Amino acid sequence: MEQLILTTASPEETAELAEKLGALLQAGDVLTLEGDLGAGKTTFTKGLAKGLGVKRVVNSPTFTIIKEYKGRVPFYHMDVYRLENSDEDLGFEEYFEGEGVTVVEWAQFIADRLPEELLNIDIRRTGDETRELKFTPAGDRFIKVCRELEK
Ligand code: ADP
Ligand code: MG
Repeated sequence: MEQLILTTASPEETAELAEKLGALLQAGDVLTLEGDLGAGKTTFTKGLAKGLGVKRVVNSPTFTIIKEYKGRVPFYHMDVYRLENSDEDLGFEEYFEGEGVTVVEWAQFIADRLPEELLNIDIRRTGDETRELKFTPAGDRFIKVCRELEK
């Protein structure tokens, strides 16, 4: 599978899809999340966190680059926007290879520090209430995850 494209017709549907994905994830999984402002990245991330068993409210980590939440496994939410043109390394490998699941927003700014195996999710607005979610898996593990998600 090269790509999985799914559509949703409401924010709730996007959150439910993300929750389903969250339930399929395990320690060491890394997801990159793309989409314009208002596409639904935060909506998606909140659903994902729910699927990981996070009870706390998840918001965008605009002022902190990395936010950590307790769940079934730890959940790390990163927004590396402020690392554009910076080679600062905040110990990314320890997060990526660690005990938790990581979601990275603006991952292109740390492209050279990302693991080889990851799942990219691109959310595109197709109407007021409709979104297209394109899942691009890199590595066998995420191909399997996408097959499960498609069911
Ligand atoms: P981002 O984090 O990408 O800027 P948000 O998740 O904060 O986006 O905002 C998405 C907005 O779009 C919310 O106001 C949400 O209610 C709305 N929306 C409408 N339809 C959908 C949908 N199908 N999926 C996700 N969000 C949707
Ligand atoms: Mg957001």
